[in-house]
Parts: sequence; structure tokens; C-alpha cells
Amino acid sequence: MAKRDYYEVLGVPRTATTDEVKSAYRKLARQHHPDLNKENPKAAEEKFKELSEAYEVLADPAKRQRYDSQGYRGVEGEFGPGGFSWQNFTHVGDLEDLLGGTDFFQAFFGGDLLGGMRTRASGIPFRGNDVEVALRLPLSAALHGTERVIEVPVQGECQDCRGTGARNGTALETCPECQGRGQVRRSVNRGAAHLITITECPTCHGAGRRIKEACPTCGGSGILRQARKISVAIPAGIEDQAVLRLAGQGTAPGTGAIPGDLFVQVLFEPMAGLRREGQNAYTEAVVPLATALLGGEARVATIESEAILKIPAGTQPESQFRLRGEGFPKLRGRDRGDLFVTVHVQLPEQLSGGQRDLLQQALGKPAGAPARRPTLFGRRRT
Ligand SMILES: [Zn+2]
Ligand SMILES: [Zn+2]
Repeated sequence: MAKRDYYEVLGVPRTATTDEVKSAYRKLARQHHPDLNKENPKAAEEKFKELSEAYEVLADPAKRQRYDSQGYRGVEGEFGPGGFSWQNFTHVGDLEDLLGGTDFFQAFFGGDLLGGMRTRASGIPFRGNDVEVALRLPLSAALHGTERVIEVPVQGECQDCRGTGARNGTALETCPECQGRGQVRRSVNRGAAHLITITECPTCHGAGRRIKEACPTCGGSGILRQARKISVAIPAGIEDQAVLRLAGQGTAPGTGAIPGDLFVQVLFEPMAGLRREGQNAYTEAVVPLATALLGGEARVATIESEAILKIPAGTQPESQFRLRGEGFPKLRGRDRGDLFVTVHVQLPEQLSGGQRDLLQQALGKPAGAPARRPTLFGRRRT
């Protein structure tokens, strides 16, 4: 494949300033990022690499000058025998906010490089922490869903300095040691070998700028601990202990950092006498003997209020009835499950003489009336 002109690759004129080169690269890198081109990742990777190679040369005044005067031959020596590789790319920092934590970079940058990339200048993790909170709700909230505003303890960017740590976000100056590049080159002669190492600038830790005057609000860290109010939509039908993920609502340490996620675990308050199993609910009702024998009605507590259950005559103890549509909906759905009611029959403990006679008349004498009265002895041991 013929090597394309670096200016052409980035679509900038030969007179472009370093800032123009940078913004062109960022724009194209975002467009051709392999993670965003899932249908043809291989081609996107190639394109992305080509862009990065061009940027590597044109963003560096010395390399750019050699490229301008000698063409590719002038910079070839910077790269390995196979040409530009990701190991030669020294501008990962310029793309942190675009690429941080993506699978693509994990694939190209092994352990150390990735570790370096994930740690920002000030040693703050590049991706913010996830935050977990529990949210207690009445069971009825699972019926229609609800919305709650919760206070989440998060670390966030200091608003006064916009995360820079400098007073008003402007009291910054170009790092005198690296002249704003964020990296320093060291050349070491080891016998015949001449080694050039590029390391993060120790003064600004790679930021290229340093704080001239610290922000009084955050003391120069750019980060504030705050209680953020976040509105959480609870979908109907959500199960107990389910966890909702609110992407990007976790901790966001500083400018350019990817915020962590917020995880909200829903815990339903138990409801006396009612058990939930998926979409169905189970409860119990006690009816007097007369109702079981002759039929009638029973009041049953439902999830939200109560219902009248018709008890047919001759209902046996422990019969189960179904109240259709009195259960819980499917997640984000509307059709509700059922409420099952187990009916217990309460027997009178004592009968008056008249009641006994009437019952005997109606139901007949118990078969084989006892000849001897047994005494309650107790339970047999096993
Ligand atoms: Zn520096
Ligand atoms: Zn601040």
C-alpha cells in the first residue's frame, strides 16, 4: 500500500498549526474509532492507525520539520523496522477522553502502557469509581413503577475551577520543564548504543500545564466530594433486590475523566401476609365455618388496597382462590399476574347445647359414637 501524505491523511493544509492538526486528528479519531465501527473493525483499525501515525509526526515540531524537508525518510527512523506501531505512539494522553478504558486500547496497549494511560497526571484514576446505593421502597411501587430522587455521595469535578484545580480554571501556566508537551526525552549513551527514552514529565505529570494559583474551593485537586441528587426511574414489575445501572452517574474525577456508574439496588419492604413470587402474589384469608358451609364473602388485603372474595357454599379448608390481575406486572409491562388466596376455615371452639342439637339434626350423629372417652396423652416419642 502506497504511503499517503500525512497532511492528506489528516486533511489539513501544510500551513496548519499544531492546534489545527490536533483538532483534525481528534475529529477523525472519533469518527474512525474501531469501537464505534463494529461492522468493519479491521478497516477502522487500519484507518485509525494511519491517522495516529500522521498525528505522531505532525504534532511534534521536530518530526514535522524533518518530514517537511525529507518526507517519510526523515521520520522512518522513529519507528521500528515494520514502520509505525502503537508502541511508537506518544500521544495517548491526547485521546484519553475519547478512548479511555476501551477494549481497543486494551488490545493494543499491554499491561504497563495501559496502566499508565489509565492514571491521569495527578494520579487520579482515569475512570471514576462506581457508586452503589440501596433504595427501599414499598411493595406497591412495583405495581406502577415510580420515580425517586436519591442523594448519592460522589466525588465530582469542582465547579469553581472546572476540575483544573487552578483558581477560576484559568490560573494555569505552561509547564516550564516540558514546554507543554507533557513528556520529556532523555538520551543516554550506553557504549555504542544511544538510547532515547520518552517519559512522562515529572513536573506536570504529563499534563503539559501546571497550576499557577490553586483553586480555593477544592485546594487544587479539582475534585469535590458532594451529595448529588439524582432522579431514578423505577420500572413497574421490578423484582426485589434488582439492581439498576445509571451509566455515568458515579464518581467523575476531573476534566476528561470518564465517570463511573451508579448502581441502585431496589429493596422492597416486606408486606405483612403477602408473598411475591415473580408476577404472582400469595395471601391468606380466614372465614368462619358458617361462611364456608353456606357461602358468603371475605375481605382480602391486596397489594394496594383490598378486594372482596366470593366464598362459594361448601368451601373446603385450605382451598385456594385466584383473583386475576391482582398480582404484579411483568418488567416494564402492563399485564398483571394473579393473587392467590388460601382460605382457612375457623371452627367454633365451643357449641351451645342448642347448637349441638341442631347440628346433630342437620348433619346426623357422628358415626360410631365413642364408647369410651379417650384422654389426651401427648405425643409419642419417635
Ligand atoms: Zn511538564
Ligand atoms: Zn476547584
